[in-house]
Amino acid sequence: MAETRQFDIAIVGAGIAGASLAVALSGEGLSIALIEAQPLDTVTLPTDCSLQNFDPRVSALTPRSRVLLEQLGAWQSIVDYRYCAYHHMTVWDAQGTGEIEFDRAEVKLPELGHIVENRVITRALLARVQAAPDISLLHSVALSTCTRLSSSRMLLELEGGGTLEADLLVAADGALSRVRTMMAFESREWDYGHHAIVATVEVARSHENTAWQRFLPTGPLALLPLPSEDGRHYCSIVWSLQEHLVDDLLALEDQPFCAALERAIEGRVGAVIGSTERVAFPLRQRHAVDYVQPGVALVADAAHTIHPLAGQGINLGLQDIAVLAEEILAGHARGVSSGQLELLRRYQRRRKGDNLLMMTAMDSFKRLFEQQSLPLRWLRNAGMRVVGQIPPLKQQLLRHAMGLE
Ligand SMILES: Cc1cc2nc3c(=O)[nH]c(=O)nc-3n(C[C@H](O)[C@H](O)[C@H](O)COP(=O)(O)OP(=O)(O)OC[C@H]3O[C@@H](n4cnc5c(N)ncnc54)[C@H](O)[C@@H]3O)c2cc1C
Repeated sequence: MAETRQFDIAIVGAGIAGASLAVALSGEGLSIALIEAQPLDTVTLPTDCSLQNFDPRVSALTPRSRVLLEQLGAWQSIVDYRYCAYHHMTVWDAQGTGEIEFDRAEVKLPELGHIVENRVITRALLARVQAAPDISLLHSVALSTCTRLSSSRMLLELEGGGTLEADLLVAADGALSRVRTMMAFESREWDYGHHAIVATVEVARSHENTAWQRFLPTGPLALLPLPSEDGRHYCSIVWSLQEHLVDDLLALEDQPFCAALERAIEGRVGAVIGSTERVAFPLRQRHAVDYVQPGVALVADAAHTIHPLAGQGINLGLQDIAVLAEEILAGHARGVSSGQLELLRRYQRRRKGDNLLMMTAMDSFKRLFEQQSLPLRWLRNAGMRVVGQIPPLKQQLLRHAMGLE
């Protein structure tokens, strides 16, 4: 029987969250295992912009997330490849005249954020992982079971037979976290009754480096700007819809789908000329009651999933990573084991309130914009206009969404 490999920290899941955490902990005298079920994506990334060459999954990264990726040494390769800065955000209500605009000038920054393809972020982080001698990347192998051996020693069994031990097991294994289930973490969850349709589209006019979002009675629709090339303009769409409407939209051929999208976004970026195949994701809100147990911590989507309407999911996840890494490294410097419950509770205390606040805000927005009653429609339209006319209030909202406070 193969011997059990020993580590200080084992991270399950090498998505954006898991890979970031491994890099954040590297170089400080800890031994780290990063376990990923999927094989490494080694296909050469296409350099020319065309509909089929963009990853349909993108993230709107806040300035705070960009700073973290800079600190992890991953940002430069994102810049060297491609990204699209957005300078402006326009949000409007389909049922009324309410509209609100946010601009980089209001926060005196060069941009409000960056749209980056998820594949590009993960690649940049995994390049850092592979260059780190203290991180063992075990890919194409899934975690099958995990057991607590003592108050701060965990045993992990991998599919195919390998075993390893660590002081701390970090679950970065996404929304359907197996670690969360196997370690019997309780979570509160409910269906939004929405699916998100995701695709890349080509549009006739420049997107003007603007993130467009229209609240329809059936759910919010976002058009996020992607890099343009040779006078051709591209956007990534996240179209959240009530469940019963999704199949009909997915069944449409390209032309009728583009026409439906153009109508839904009121032609703000001109005609929708083409679209990639559409993919739908069910949307569920989930929040773990506790993020930690002795020797175990949940991070990012394993701890919380949120409606994508404000593009906050991985931004919150990256803040979890920054805080957990800070607590682990401070503990390590004092000789405290990374799996110690008190240390992990500090991480939970610092992150849970923030995550809950953002989740509650997104849920309230979604509900408010679904309301059909006249007084509520009037209220939200008036609310948008009022916020737009009070610069300090608007600036505070914007700074919070950008992770600046
Ligand atoms: C439509 C849509 C749009 C979104 N837009 C935005 C946005 O604009 N901005 C934003 O901030 N967020 C956005 N989000 C949210 C964001 O995509 C997620 O928060 C983010 O991808 C979560 O990253 P993660 O690393 O926690 O999990 P994941 O990306 O799910 O990674 C988990 C990893 O764990 C691996 N894994 C799972 N189980 C095992 C196992 N047993 N053993 C080993 N490995 C395992 C998986 O293979 C995977 O690689 C959006 C989400 C959706 C659905």
